[in-house]
Amino acid sequence: MLELETIEGIGPKTKELMNKLGIHNCEELLNYYPYRYDIIKKSDVQNLNNGDRIIIDGIIEGQPTIIYINKSLKKIIFRINTKTNILNVTLYNRIYLYQDLKSGKEVTIIGKYDKLKNTVVAANIRFGLLPPGAKIEPIYYTTNGLSVKQLSKFIISFLHMDYDVINFVPHYLEERYNFLTKKEAIYNIHNPSDILRLKKARQRIKYEELFMYMLKINYLKAKIEDDEKAISRKIDYEKIDKFISRLPFSLTVDQERAVKEILGDLEAKKRMNRLLQGDVGSGKTIVAFISIYANFLAKYQSALMVPTEILARQHYEEALKIFEKTKMTIRLLTSSTSIKEKKEIYASLENGDIDLIIGTQSLIQEKIKYKKLGLVITDEQHRFGVNQRNIFKEKGNSPDVLSMSATPIPRTYALTIYGDTDVTSIKSKPSGRKEVITYFKKEKEITEVLELMKKEIDQGHQIYVVAPMIEDDDSEAIENVIDLKEKMNKAFGKIAKIGVIHGKLDNKEKTKVMSQFENRKINILISTTVIEVGVNVPNASMIVIFNANMFGLSTLHQLRGRVGRSDLQSYCILVARDSQERLRLLERTNDGFEISEYDFQTRGEGDLFGQRQSGEIGLVMANIRKDYKMLLKAKEDADEFIGTLFTFKTNPEYFPILNELQKIENLE
Ligand code: ADP
Ligand code: MG
Repeated sequence: MLELETIEGIGPKTKELMNKLGIHNCEELLNYYPYRYDIIKKSDVQNLNNGDRIIIDGIIEGQPTIIYINKSLKKIIFRINTKTNILNVTLYNRIYLYQDLKSGKEVTIIGKYDKLKNTVVAANIRFGLLPPGAKIEPIYYTTNGLSVKQLSKFIISFLHMDYDVINFVPHYLEERYNFLTKKEAIYNIHNPSDILRLKKARQRIKYEELFMYMLKINYLKAKIEDDEKAISRKIDYEKIDKFISRLPFSLTVDQERAVKEILGDLEAKKRMNRLLQGDVGSGKTIVAFISIYANFLAKYQSALMVPTEILARQHYEEALKIFEKTKMTIRLLTSSTSIKEKKEIYASLENGDIDLIIGTQSLIQEKIKYKKLGLVITDEQHRFGVNQRNIFKEKGNSPDVLSMSATPIPRTYALTIYGDTDVTSIKSKPSGRKEVITYFKKEKEITEVLELMKKEIDQGHQIYVVAPMIEDDDSEAIENVIDLKEKMNKAFGKIAKIGVIHGKLDNKEKTKVMSQFENRKINILISTTVIEVGVNVPNASMIVIFNANMFGLSTLHQLRGRVGRSDLQSYCILVARDSQERLRLLERTNDGFEISEYDFQTRGEGDLFGQRQSGEIGLVMANIRKDYKMLLKAKEDADEFIGTLFTFKTNPEYFPILNELQKIENLE
């Protein structure tokens, strides 16, 4: 790595300024790419409109004049001969240039064209004529004291020195795509001779980033598959079939396929790392339970982790019912489990008495030892950070991992974000389900909302009402749970029982309210978004969401997923002050993929990547969305190359690649 001072003209001062930009050595200087380019090309004056930007060259005619407008404002005016006509030029406040502006001098002017006065107001003046054709000038982000021009000059002078760059693209791929070499590419990024070459240069750099990214993902995947501690077990298909046939419904085709894929993973001697992705209400839980049952039959323990206590309890009760006729021992562990009970649970997990533990984050917060942990399932995966997932992976003996999520990752991204994971999607919903009908209502249409609610109550159905806040905080525009309870009591107090649930209630209270709602003792449940994920009360046929504009579309879709969980026609009513295009999308579609795609297009990728910022994953010039086609190519090539890489580990050409891959091993 070369010191910045090797470049002529860089002293301590410039170095400090460059450090500010994150440039500490010559390699980093080369990787400091322009964020855009200016194309310097002679304007066709005939076709310019008044006020257009103009780039023109010519020869100064006659002696320029200085005009004093006032104390602090002076200008130089002169004429240039452009071969096709004579143009007036005005240059404000650059009197120091006066002595260089002599009759007969060649100049290039960049500025604004005043057609009526046949004048250019110059923003920029350079000596000499324009080169023929177009010149492309890279523009960099810089800092006070270091101009774009200076920075560019330093980079270009380094480009002409004797240096080496690290190349990650194997020669045979460079040849396949007729790529520029890495060095040529870097050269043309900073000093492009023409647009075509710049394009080729950018292509080469982007491809390299994407290729390395996919290679890293492949590498992680290969490592998972290569895990010696991975479990393989015998699957008792006969007993599992019997178990499935005793369920109160038959599985959908997609559920069957998901079960088959998961059981295949459990059987194989490789560590499962699978994402089960399915829209709200598609029936992921039962798939999880069947997997747990298979794991139990093979005499391994299972852990099921969920993001909220409400959901943990719900899964626990569901599991007790479903596994009633088996010999499975099931326990619940949350933050409200008493210390005494916790201790007893830990002991039973360690001596193998518990077959299935269901819980919240508590499952990873403490150092729990398992006798024979074989399967870890996380429900609502998107609620957990990547790190938590990793902690879980380390428990026990390389247990198989199944993650479930209802927040669909847009197709475009599933590949990259979950690239080291196998993905199973449940697309169809259980038969008999009707699409949830969604209405948008303005706040002033509240009477209509109440009428719609009454219809459901009269039929004995239940309703969720959601507000963004728990209590009043003086912002009148925002509904809160407490006020809503008043209002609902006024409207329905005589015909319905109204309950309240939110995050500030203690856990006993929450459990009580939830079970009252499940047992139809409560007709209208007023809530914050604590009910967002997973909650399953099939008799609820309507959800009314106030201040809907305050929620992201994916959250609204999740909330909507609380209804439509049986064969009842269900409704979702979004209430907000004014209508928004965003909310109208939910009226039009029930497709979670389409919704998350839209959320994504309008809010950008930052949200999805979360901790993994694009720079961090090595994508500086490439963009997963814009360069998606190239990403697919890079993936194919990486898939093909990884075998070669491990066979020819000693080929020096591949050392930089292996080096780079080793780095992620330390990260994991
Ligand atoms: P999610 O995928 O959102 O977690 P759940 O697993 O909670 O969905 O399932 C939603 C509801 O659908 C539950 O009441 C469940 O019992 C029911 N269900 C699941 N699979 C089927 C099926 N194949 N046929 C009918 N009902 C089903
Ligand atoms: Mg669920």
